[in-house]
Amino acid sequence: MTTKLYLDDTDLVKCEAVATAEVILDATVVYPQGGGQPSDKATISSVDGSVVFRVDKAVLDRDSDVVVHTGAYMPGSEPLVPGMPVVVAVDAELRALHARLHSAGHLLDAAMRNLGYADLEPTRGAHAPHLAYVEYAGVIADPGERERLPQRLAAECAALIAAGGDVRVRHVARDDVAAECGLDEIPAYLPETMPTVRIVGMADAACPCGGTHVKNVVTIGGITIRKIKHKAGKRTVNVRYSVDPSP
Ligand SMILES: [Zn+2]
Repeated sequence: MTTKLYLDDTDLVKCEAVATAEVILDATVVYPQGGGQPSDKATISSVDGSVVFRVDKAVLDRDSDVVVHTGAYMPGSEPLVPGMPVVVAVDAELRALHARLHSAGHLLDAAMRNLGYADLEPTRGAHAPHLAYVEYAGVIADPGERERLPQRLAAECAALIAAGGDVRVRHVARDDVAAECGLDEIPAYLPETMPTVRIVGMADAACPCGGTHVKNVVTIGGITIRKIKHKAGKRTVNVRYSVDPSP
């Protein structure tokens, strides 16, 4: 985090600070924050151990298609030098949790379709340990349906997880995205310059996605529906959820 002194005083044009660092590599296993999924945490180390850089967050610069790792050198570490061979290691436990949370969001989409709500389009979501939700555009008008939804959704998710099934990842031509995902048209958020699109499928639902996922839905483990908010004004249905602790 950066202390934003410019917020306190417009006339403050000079300050003292301690340098942190950014690292750019020619390859990385660190997932950069995006699509509602938090960044991985990681370390970047030199082979001889003289350099250890702690990655607190990675972000993808979409203009340059470069992943920027931000964080700080560990005490006593030498600085990285361009051309130096390094080893990148993500926090595997946190990655696994993020993958389960993110995959659970996809499975909610499949469960909603199976329950007859295919017309409710998922429009945004968050898949972090402290906040996980999927928001659908549309309305469920019937009060009885609303009341039954949390229980039905939980049961459908449990059934899908118990049934298992490989998570499908494919790259398709942009023009084929709508057909592959059962959409009326190509989503507007996919740039026209993007020649191919990564499609992720789980159960009977598929959508464009650049996140990390479990390899089989059984690995999600268990989904708890925390709260469902029906926002009449915005015409959205917001499903808060969490995944059960790892077995
Ligand atoms: Zn995904």
